Amino acid sequence: MTSSLRLFNTKSLKKELFKPNDPNNVKLYTCGPTVYNYAHIGNLRTYVFEDLLKRVLLYFGYGVEHVMNLTDVDDKTIRGAIADNKKLDDYTAVFKKAFFEDLTTLNILPANHYPAATDHIPEMIQMIEQLLQNKIAYIGADGSVYFSIRQFPNYGSLSHLDLSELKSGASNRVEVDEYDKESATDFVLWKSYDVNRDGQIFWESPFGKGRPGWHLECSAMAMKYLGDTLDLHMGGVDNIFPHHENEIAQSEACSKKHFCPFWVHVEHLIVEGKKMSKSLGNFHTLRDLLDKGYSGKQVRYLLLQTHYKTQLNFTFDGLRGSQSSLERLQNFIDRLLSAESVKKSDFGDLIKKYEQKFNDSLLEDINISSALATLFDCLREFNPLLDKDQVDKEDREKLIELFKRFDQILGLFTFNEKNIEMTQDLDQALQDREKAREDKDWTEADRLRDYILSKGYQIEDTPKGPQLKKS
Ligand code: AMP
Ligand code: ZN
Repeated sequence: MTSSLRLFNTKSLKKELFKPNDPNNVKLYTCGPTVYNYAHIGNLRTYVFEDLLKRVLLYFGYGVEHVMNLTDVDDKTIRGAIADNKKLDDYTAVFKKAFFEDLTTLNILPANHYPAATDHIPEMIQMIEQLLQNKIAYIGADGSVYFSIRQFPNYGSLSHLDLSELKSGASNRVEVDEYDKESATDFVLWKSYDVNRDGQIFWESPFGKGRPGWHLECSAMAMKYLGDTLDLHMGGVDNIFPHHENEIAQSEACSKKHFCPFWVHVEHLIVEGKKMSKSLGNFHTLRDLLDKGYSGKQVRYLLLQTHYKTQLNFTFDGLRGSQSSLERLQNFIDRLLSAESVKKSDFGDLIKKYEQKFNDSLLEDINISSALATLFDCLREFNPLLDKDQVDKEDREKLIELFKRFDQILGLFTFNEKNIEMTQDLDQALQDREKAREDKDWTEADRLRDYILSKGYQIEDTPKGPQLKKS
């Protein structure tokens, strides 16, 4: 049984009920990485949100068929391979591998298919032939094949472009993969080969040597794996124009069917007011942050916690904040796993109330701030009760199960008895050290302090006595 999920649809600029054609088989396409460099955490914000939304669908009973492409041929990959004097495949292989490592580190559920553009050139050629046949594509004087946007009356419907403005510029055409709204023009489907620009990178086709346009790649791969009509298409906001606008135009002009009714776009991750991007050089990769000692889950928390329609301003203070929030939540779980109590309690209804609030928050346009706030409400409610030994075994188990369900969506926690044993061992060492200090056995106290330090913890003096803190 599925629940009613509302999401912001870029196409209507409204929150709408998400109604897939078949709830048991939601056809989901997300634009994947251009593998010419390591993904930066801006790209990863988009992928983490897409993962969150997909987990919400799965959690509430939808079946999902997810395709994420790999753009392994475009202007940037060709430029990079030539600059490094490498074959295109060898050049992109490094970044493909790194991309999958990043997905694992961030606990992102795998897609059903990761098609690479270079494995689907025949499908792309076939689409271009169809578009030429439908007289919506034409061969330019430079030998490249272009899509004529004037022949597609719906052009601009996703990005809400004023068509009259468009027509004035529509006599031009553009060969590059990326361009802005001000220069909306006919765009390239097949880019003819230029030895000075492309080195040895080209494919044979009925329209001569060359390579596909970036936009066409996604249309061809989406339709091959998901059919002519999808249920949901996602990407970052920079993809709305021209990329997704062009995807719609090519796909619909080819199949004569509606390509996708629901489009969800993730706002950017920014640094000092600017979009984090490889070209501006203001980026951090996941590796940079792991090298600085942060964990994948801490970065996941940071990327996850802001609503997808709000820009996320990256700072190291923010990252440290995520680190401590996650630690608080994980400590609560560890406490539930290790606490013991003989007293009887009855918090079943309260626990249900928290679950309801968490679920309602997510179903209302993935209100992640409210969903996460529910977890902290739980901590505020139950930590003092645990302090006083007032949560019985059954309620603790209910809470653990609740946090496990939360985690099916959040993907942030561990439910590991080993962690607990480790904490118990450290707690014992802490108590022994206190005893040694009382006994003025400084050698033993120092030995125990060093032992605790060697396990990655520091001793902090608090009003409640000495406590452990991750160093
Ligand atoms: P690319 O590798 O440039 O094709 O981008 C891959 C994905 O990351 C696309 O969905 C982009 O929209 C998204 N993206 C790029 N830069 C950012 C950013 N600063 N914040 C969030 N998403 C981004
Ligand atoms: Zn795409």
